[in-house]
Amino acid sequence: MMNGRYQPTPQLTSFQAALGQQQALNLALADVAKYTKVKSLPEAELALMDGPQTQIQLVVYPLQRKPLLAWAITLRPNLASRWTYIIDAQSSDILQHFDNLCKVHGTHTASDHGHAVPPPDGPATANANDLFGISRTINTYQKGSLFYLIDASRSMFDAPASVFPDEPVGVIWTINAQNTSPENNNFGAAHITSSNNTWTNPIAVSAHYNAGRAFEYFKQTFNRNSINGQGGNIISLINVADPSGQPMDNAFWNGAAMFYGNGSIAFSSPLAKGLDVSGHEMSHGVIQNTANLEYYAESGAINESFADVFGAMIDRDDWLIGENVVNNNVYTSGALRSMSDPHNGGNSLNDDGWQPAHFSEKYTGTADNAGVHINSGITNRAYYLFAEQVSKNTAEQVYYRALNNYLTRSSQFIDLRIAVIQAATDLHGANSTVVNAAISAFSTVGIGAGQVANTRTI
Ligand SMILES: [Zn+2]
Repeated sequence: MMNGRYQPTPQLTSFQAALGQQQALNLALADVAKYTKVKSLPEAELALMDGPQTQIQLVVYPLQRKPLLAWAITLRPNLASRWTYIIDAQSSDILQHFDNLCKVHGTHTASDHGHAVPPPDGPATANANDLFGISRTINTYQKGSLFYLIDASRSMFDAPASVFPDEPVGVIWTINAQNTSPENNNFGAAHITSSNNTWTNPIAVSAHYNAGRAFEYFKQTFNRNSINGQGGNIISLINVADPSGQPMDNAFWNGAAMFYGNGSIAFSSPLAKGLDVSGHEMSHGVIQNTANLEYYAESGAINESFADVFGAMIDRDDWLIGENVVNNNVYTSGALRSMSDPHNGGNSLNDDGWQPAHFSEKYTGTADNAGVHINSGITNRAYYLFAEQVSKNTAEQVYYRALNNYLTRSSQFIDLRIAVIQAATDLHGANSTVVNAAISAFSTVGIGAGQVANTRTI
């Protein structure tokens, strides 16, 4: 997309920036080491990442509306974080730095007349209990004498390009992090296998099943070919630990894979149990590959809100997020967030799970990347109000079109209003009931027609 907040400047690459590319990279690497572990990644871990470890380009960055030349750097110091740095190419000041990753708080061998024949390698199905104790039909893959938790049954599967079991393409694949942390050097993930296609690990079953639900949602609802839109593998790692070795109290999608902890304080169940948690995190991958909303302040809150919108549409029976995994002693309403009632049983930001329900309650501090998981309550409620008027089926189509066609990296709340109204106009016509419902929903949460739209610097 060419209309983001900061624009690549190929014509300026010969410009004499006072700060060279390698110097800028070194500054960013030194700084990020204060926040997270910087690892040199082995090849197996690079396969679980959505891009190279470092990317850098010269951009024009609008600092308080005064454009200046800056280095935009993406660092992936380990599998658990993806940092953005903006460094002034003249003064060497770090203008912006934040982590982009959302963390939710978070056999047999056939024989023929006695002659051994090659085993029937290929997709298989099984029934197995998930973390609810519900029997799910899951897709597995047989190679030789073992079955793997690899789902090669989806439309994205690329058989000619696949090598089983370690290099499948276009699959949903669940693996075991064996209670290690991606931030530590002993991180190790292993295939989950069965000799007879029976599966007795409900965490693995939930993760595998939920990934399939997320894939099918985007495929059947929007004809989107996987999270990245290009048939990319959906990999889930279960039993992820935190750096101290304790169960990670979180879940996240790092651009290429889902990482599920088993919960400790905020979460009382393995996070793989929550279909909306899975849906939320994988939706961040869809957002990254479409509008790529900057994970900071209002654009970041819109990013969070879209993840909740699609998470709630995948887990469609209510407007709550995280209701199946949170610790009710921490989140006394029983949910991480409520899209229909963002106050979620609380009175203020001091209460866990409370979010603003109206623009007048917007959080203006710097915590949480300037409120990305806080102010999303305002736009979540706008979606709820919209969907209640026009149906979830109609609302999700309008929102996906707004995300895919109109929103950009730097979009603000008012831009979301404009984008949703435009998408509704495209699909249903100006002055349609759907357009009027969108106007009404945004006005009700205080995102009004009178606000000034984001002006793009370039
Ligand atoms: Zn999120």
